[in-house]
Amino acid sequence: MKEKCVIGIDIGGTHMRSALVDRKGTVLAFRKAHSESRQGPDSLAHRLAQQCLALLADAGLPSHFLCAVGLGVAGKLDPASGSVIFSPNLPSLAGFPLAVKLQDALQVPVVLENDANVFGLGEAWLGNARNLPHWIGVTLGTGVGGCFFAHGRLWEGDRLGFSGEIGHVIVDPEGPECACGQKGCLEAHASATALVKGIDLARKEGRALSPLLNEALHAGKLTARIVHQAAVQGDPTARGLFSRMGWALALALSNLFTFLGISTAVIGGGVAASWDQFAPPMENYIRRVPSMLDPHRTRIHRSELGDMAAVFGAASLAWQRAEGR
Ligand SMILES: [Zn+2]
Repeated sequence: MKEKCVIGIDIGGTHMRSALVDRKGTVLAFRKAHSESRQGPDSLAHRLAQQCLALLADAGLPSHFLCAVGLGVAGKLDPASGSVIFSPNLPSLAGFPLAVKLQDALQVPVVLENDANVFGLGEAWLGNARNLPHWIGVTLGTGVGGCFFAHGRLWEGDRLGFSGEIGHVIVDPEGPECACGQKGCLEAHASATALVKGIDLARKEGRALSPLLNEALHAGKLTARIVHQAAVQGDPTARGLFSRMGWALALALSNLFTFLGISTAVIGGGVAASWDQFAPPMENYIRRVPSMLDPHRTRIHRSELGDMAAVFGAASLAWQRAEGR
Protein backbone atom coordinates (compact mmCIF):
# COMPACT_ATOMS: atom_id res chain seq x y z
CA MET A 1 0.00 0.00 0.00
CA LYS A 2 1.27 3.45 -0.86
CA GLU A 3 2.08 5.68 2.11
CA LYS A 4 1.81 9.40 2.72
CA CYS A 5 4.90 11.49 2.05
CA VAL A 6 6.39 14.97 2.37
CA ILE A 7 8.66 17.13 0.21
CA GLY A 8 11.92 18.68 1.46
CA ILE A 9 13.41 21.56 -0.55
CA ASP A 10 16.80 23.24 -0.19
CA ILE A 11 16.92 26.56 -2.07
CA GLY A 12 20.41 27.88 -2.65
CA GLY A 13 21.67 30.84 -4.68
CA THR A 14 22.37 28.55 -7.66
CA HIS A 15 20.26 25.41 -7.33
CA MET A 16 17.08 24.22 -5.71
CA ARG A 17 17.11 20.55 -4.71
CA SER A 18 13.90 18.81 -3.76
CA ALA A 19 12.94 15.29 -2.76
CA LEU A 20 9.75 13.39 -2.07
CA VAL A 21 10.45 11.50 1.14
CA ASP A 22 8.53 8.90 3.15
CA ARG A 23 8.36 8.58 6.95
CA LYS A 24 11.52 6.47 7.08
CA GLY A 25 13.57 8.92 5.01
CA THR A 26 13.43 6.94 1.77
CA VAL A 27 13.73 9.21 -1.28
CA LEU A 28 10.83 8.38 -3.64
CA ALA A 29 11.78 11.05 -6.21
CA PHE A 30 14.45 13.74 -6.50
CA ARG A 31 14.83 16.85 -8.68
CA LYS A 32 17.48 19.54 -9.01
CA ALA A 33 16.92 22.77 -10.96
CA HIS A 34 18.51 26.21 -11.30
CA SER A 35 17.10 28.73 -8.82
CA GLU A 36 17.12 31.49 -11.47
CA SER A 37 16.24 33.97 -8.73
CA ARG A 38 16.74 36.94 -11.08
CA GLN A 39 13.36 36.11 -12.62
CA GLY A 40 11.75 37.34 -9.40
CA PRO A 41 10.14 35.76 -6.35
CA ASP A 42 6.73 34.99 -7.92
CA SER A 43 8.43 33.03 -10.69
CA LEU A 44 10.50 31.13 -8.11
CA ALA A 45 7.37 30.23 -6.09
CA HIS A 46 5.63 29.09 -9.28
CA ARG A 47 8.59 26.92 -10.35
CA LEU A 48 8.83 25.45 -6.85
CA ALA A 49 5.16 24.43 -6.98
CA GLN A 50 5.72 22.87 -10.43
CA GLN A 51 8.75 20.99 -9.08
CA CYS A 52 6.64 19.59 -6.22
CA LEU A 53 3.93 18.38 -8.61
CA ALA A 54 6.60 16.86 -10.87
CA LEU A 55 8.03 14.91 -7.90
CA LEU A 56 4.59 13.43 -7.17
CA ALA A 57 4.19 12.53 -10.85
CA ASP A 58 7.70 10.96 -10.89
CA ALA A 59 6.69 8.71 -7.99
CA GLY A 60 3.27 7.96 -9.51
CA LEU A 61 1.46 9.44 -6.50
CA PRO A 62 -1.72 11.56 -6.57
CA SER A 63 -1.46 14.98 -4.86
CA HIS A 64 -3.50 13.94 -1.79
CA PHE A 65 -0.57 11.71 -0.71
CA LEU A 66 1.43 14.88 0.03
CA CYS A 67 1.14 15.92 3.73
CA ALA A 68 3.44 18.95 3.96
CA VAL A 69 6.46 20.72 2.46
CA GLY A 70 9.60 21.94 4.26
CA LEU A 71 11.72 24.75 2.79
CA GLY A 72 15.31 25.55 3.68
CA VAL A 73 16.54 29.03 2.66
CA ALA A 74 19.79 30.83 3.55
CA GLY A 75 19.34 34.04 5.46
CA LYS A 76 17.22 35.72 8.10
CA LEU A 77 13.66 34.42 8.08
CA ASP A 78 10.36 34.86 9.84
CA PRO A 79 9.10 31.26 10.11
CA ALA A 80 5.90 32.44 11.84
CA SER A 81 4.76 34.43 8.78
CA GLY A 82 6.49 32.17 6.25
CA SER A 83 8.48 35.14 4.91
CA VAL A 84 12.08 35.64 3.95
CA ILE A 85 13.40 38.80 5.70
CA PHE A 86 16.74 38.83 3.93
CA SER A 87 18.61 36.19 1.94
CA PRO A 88 22.20 37.03 0.87
CA ASN A 89 22.18 34.57 -2.06
CA LEU A 90 18.58 35.30 -3.10
CA PRO A 91 18.19 39.07 -2.58
CA SER A 92 14.99 39.23 -4.64
CA LEU A 93 13.22 37.16 -1.94
CA ALA A 94 13.53 39.96 0.70
CA GLY A 95 10.13 40.46 2.35
CA PHE A 96 8.52 37.79 0.17
CA PRO A 97 6.02 35.34 1.78
CA LEU A 98 7.48 32.30 0.00
CA ALA A 99 5.95 29.66 2.26
CA VAL A 100 2.49 31.26 2.03
CA LYS A 101 2.64 31.39 -1.79
CA LEU A 102 3.67 27.74 -2.01
CA GLN A 103 1.01 26.75 0.52
CA ASP A 104 -1.66 28.50 -1.58
CA ALA A 105 -0.46 26.71 -4.71
CA LEU A 106 -0.21 23.21 -3.19
CA GLN A 107 -2.93 23.36 -0.52
CA VAL A 108 -0.73 21.64 2.10
CA PRO A 109 1.17 23.19 5.06
CA VAL A 110 4.54 24.68 4.05
CA VAL A 111 7.22 25.36 6.70
CA LEU A 112 10.18 27.69 6.23
CA GLU A 113 13.50 27.39 8.07
CA ASN A 114 17.08 28.64 7.80
CA ASP A 115 19.31 26.41 5.62
CA ALA A 116 21.86 25.69 8.37
CA ASN A 117 19.03 24.69 10.72
CA VAL A 118 17.59 22.29 8.13
CA PHE A 119 21.11 20.88 7.64
CA GLY A 120 21.07 20.12 11.39
CA LEU A 121 17.59 18.58 11.25
CA GLY A 122 18.78 16.32 8.40
CA GLU A 123 21.87 15.23 10.34
CA ALA A 124 19.75 14.62 13.46
CA TRP A 125 17.28 12.49 11.51
CA LEU A 126 19.44 10.46 9.13
CA GLY A 127 23.06 11.57 9.51
CA ASN A 128 25.97 11.58 11.93
CA ALA A 129 24.03 13.38 14.65
CA ARG A 130 21.45 10.58 15.04
CA ASN A 131 21.05 9.88 18.76
CA LEU A 132 23.33 12.80 19.76
CA PRO A 133 21.68 14.88 22.50
CA HIS A 134 23.80 18.07 22.42
CA TRP A 135 25.85 19.18 19.44
CA ILE A 136 26.83 22.06 17.16
CA GLY A 137 26.32 21.91 13.38
CA VAL A 138 28.49 23.92 10.99
CA THR A 139 27.94 24.37 7.23
CA LEU A 140 30.91 25.52 5.17
CA GLY A 141 29.81 27.00 1.84
CA THR A 142 29.77 30.45 0.23
CA GLY A 143 29.26 31.58 3.83
CA VAL A 144 29.41 29.70 7.14
CA GLY A 145 26.15 28.65 8.79
CA GLY A 146 25.51 26.94 12.07
CA CYS A 147 22.95 25.38 14.37
CA PHE A 148 22.78 24.08 17.92
CA PHE A 149 20.85 21.08 19.20
CA ALA A 150 20.05 20.65 22.90
CA HIS A 151 18.34 17.50 24.19
CA GLY A 152 17.95 16.43 20.56
CA ARG A 153 15.96 19.53 19.62
CA LEU A 154 16.92 22.48 17.45
CA TRP A 155 17.72 25.50 19.62
CA GLU A 156 15.60 28.48 18.56
CA GLY A 157 16.78 31.03 21.12
CA ASP A 158 14.43 33.98 21.55
CA ARG A 159 13.06 33.43 18.01
CA LEU A 160 14.75 36.56 16.71
CA GLY A 161 14.98 35.15 13.17
CA PHE A 162 18.43 33.64 13.75
CA SER A 163 20.16 31.20 16.12
CA GLY A 164 23.37 29.19 16.09
CA GLU A 165 25.03 31.71 13.73
CA ILE A 166 28.56 30.44 14.36
CA GLY A 167 29.71 32.05 11.09
CA HIS A 168 29.54 35.47 12.74
CA VAL A 169 31.34 34.53 15.92
CA ILE A 170 34.45 36.75 15.89
CA VAL A 171 37.71 34.80 16.11
CA ASP A 172 40.06 37.73 15.35
CA PRO A 173 38.90 41.36 15.80
CA GLU A 174 41.76 42.47 13.52
CA GLY A 175 40.97 39.79 10.93
CA PRO A 176 39.59 40.06 7.40
CA GLU A 177 36.30 41.80 6.68
CA CYS A 178 33.14 39.71 6.72
CA ALA A 179 30.04 40.06 4.51
CA CYS A 180 28.10 41.08 7.65
CA GLY A 181 30.18 44.25 8.06
CA GLN A 182 32.24 43.02 11.04
CA LYS A 183 35.90 42.10 11.03
CA GLY A 184 37.35 38.67 11.74
CA CYS A 185 34.20 36.51 11.86
CA LEU A 186 34.62 32.74 11.45
CA GLU A 187 32.99 33.15 8.00
CA ALA A 188 35.80 35.51 6.94
CA HIS A 189 38.28 32.66 7.63
CA ALA A 190 36.41 29.42 6.86
CA SER A 191 34.09 29.98 3.87
CA ALA A 192 34.59 29.45 0.13
CA THR A 193 34.53 33.26 -0.16
CA ALA A 194 37.37 33.56 2.40
CA LEU A 195 39.53 31.06 0.48
CA VAL A 196 39.05 32.87 -2.84
CA LYS A 197 39.61 36.31 -1.25
CA GLY A 198 42.72 35.00 0.50
CA ILE A 199 44.29 33.95 -2.81
CA ASP A 200 43.33 37.26 -4.43
CA LEU A 201 44.96 39.18 -1.56
CA ALA A 202 48.15 37.10 -1.87
CA ARG A 203 48.31 37.99 -5.57
CA LYS A 204 47.89 41.71 -4.79
CA GLU A 205 50.71 41.41 -2.24
CA GLY A 206 52.92 39.96 -4.96
CA ARG A 207 53.28 36.47 -3.49
CA ALA A 208 54.18 33.65 -5.89
CA LEU A 209 51.22 31.40 -6.65
CA SER A 210 51.07 28.05 -8.43
CA PRO A 211 50.17 28.11 -12.18
CA LEU A 212 46.80 26.49 -11.33
CA LEU A 213 45.84 29.45 -9.09
CA ASN A 214 47.24 32.08 -11.47
CA GLU A 215 45.32 30.67 -14.44
CA ALA A 216 42.06 30.47 -12.49
CA LEU A 217 42.54 34.02 -11.15
CA HIS A 218 43.19 35.45 -14.62
CA ALA A 219 40.18 33.65 -16.06
CA GLY A 220 38.04 34.97 -13.16
CA LYS A 221 37.13 31.37 -12.34
CA LEU A 222 38.83 30.78 -9.00
CA THR A 223 36.73 28.60 -6.69
CA ALA A 224 37.24 26.97 -3.28
CA ARG A 225 37.60 23.65 -5.10
CA ILE A 226 40.57 24.99 -7.10
CA VAL A 227 42.16 26.43 -3.93
CA HIS A 228 41.79 22.93 -2.44
CA GLN A 229 43.40 21.34 -5.50
CA ALA A 230 46.31 23.82 -5.23
CA ALA A 231 46.74 22.97 -1.52
CA VAL A 232 46.82 19.24 -2.32
CA GLN A 233 49.54 19.99 -4.91
CA GLY A 234 51.53 21.82 -2.22
CA ASP A 235 50.91 25.53 -2.95
CA PRO A 236 52.03 27.22 0.31
CA THR A 237 49.48 30.08 0.14
CA ALA A 238 46.57 27.66 -0.39
CA ARG A 239 47.88 25.44 2.41
CA GLY A 240 48.20 28.47 4.69
CA LEU A 241 44.57 29.43 4.04
CA PHE A 242 43.33 25.93 4.98
CA SER A 243 45.53 25.99 8.05
CA ARG A 244 43.99 29.36 9.04
CA MET A 245 40.54 27.90 8.38
CA GLY A 246 41.28 24.91 10.66
CA TRP A 247 42.56 27.22 13.40
CA ALA A 248 39.49 29.50 13.15
CA LEU A 249 37.05 26.55 13.28
CA ALA A 250 38.90 25.08 16.26
CA LEU A 251 38.87 28.41 18.10
CA ALA A 252 35.14 29.03 17.53
CA LEU A 253 34.15 25.45 18.38
CA SER A 254 36.38 25.13 21.45
CA ASN A 255 34.99 28.40 22.86
CA LEU A 256 31.42 27.19 22.35
CA PHE A 257 32.20 23.68 23.66
CA THR A 258 33.71 25.23 26.81
CA PHE A 259 30.77 27.56 27.35
CA LEU A 260 28.09 24.92 26.73
CA GLY A 261 29.87 21.99 28.37
CA ILE A 262 29.52 19.83 25.25
CA SER A 263 32.05 18.09 23.02
CA THR A 264 30.48 17.21 19.65
CA ALA A 265 30.10 18.97 16.30
CA VAL A 266 29.13 17.91 12.77
CA ILE A 267 30.58 19.82 9.81
CA GLY A 268 28.97 19.79 6.36
CA GLY A 269 28.47 22.02 3.30
CA GLY A 270 30.36 22.05 -0.01
CA VAL A 271 33.69 23.20 1.47
CA ALA A 272 33.68 20.20 3.87
CA ALA A 273 34.97 18.34 0.78
CA SER A 274 38.34 19.97 1.66
CA TRP A 275 38.35 18.03 4.96
CA ASP A 276 41.83 16.56 4.29
CA GLN A 277 43.28 20.10 4.28
CA PHE A 278 41.55 21.86 7.18
CA ALA A 279 40.70 19.03 9.59
CA PRO A 280 44.29 18.14 10.63
CA PRO A 281 45.14 21.75 11.71
CA MET A 282 41.66 22.04 13.31
CA GLU A 283 42.13 18.86 15.37
CA ASN A 284 45.69 19.83 16.22
CA TYR A 285 44.62 23.24 17.54
CA ILE A 286 41.70 21.80 19.53
CA ARG A 287 44.19 19.48 21.23
CA ARG A 288 46.44 22.41 22.17
CA VAL A 289 43.82 25.02 23.09
CA PRO A 290 44.03 25.90 26.77
CA SER A 291 40.59 25.18 28.14
CA MET A 292 38.63 22.86 30.36
CA LEU A 293 37.93 20.58 27.37
CA ASP A 294 39.24 17.03 27.40
CA PRO A 295 40.65 16.81 23.84
CA HIS A 296 40.23 13.01 23.86
CA ARG A 297 36.46 13.41 24.32
CA THR A 298 36.03 16.05 21.62
CA ARG A 299 34.34 14.68 18.51
CA ILE A 300 34.13 16.64 15.24
CA HIS A 301 32.39 14.57 12.57
CA ARG A 302 32.17 15.20 8.86
CA SER A 303 28.64 15.05 7.43
CA GLU A 304 28.06 11.92 5.38
CA LEU A 305 24.80 13.14 3.84
CA GLY A 306 26.57 15.68 1.59
CA ASP A 307 24.23 18.12 -0.13
CA MET A 308 21.22 15.94 0.79
CA ALA A 309 21.46 16.89 4.51
CA ALA A 310 19.44 20.09 4.05
CA VAL A 311 16.86 18.35 1.80
CA PHE A 312 16.33 15.62 4.44
CA GLY A 313 16.19 18.27 7.16
CA ALA A 314 13.51 20.21 5.28
CA ALA A 315 11.58 16.93 4.90
CA SER A 316 12.00 16.24 8.64
CA LEU A 317 10.55 19.70 9.36
CA ALA A 318 7.62 18.92 7.06
CA TRP A 319 6.98 15.65 8.96
CA GLN A 320 7.04 17.57 12.26
CA ARG A 321 4.36 19.92 10.90
CA ALA A 322 2.30 17.12 9.37
CA GLU A 323 2.31 15.22 12.66
CA GLY A 324 1.63 18.33 14.76
CA ARG A 325 4.91 18.10 16.68
ZN1 LIG B 1 30.28 38.17 9.97
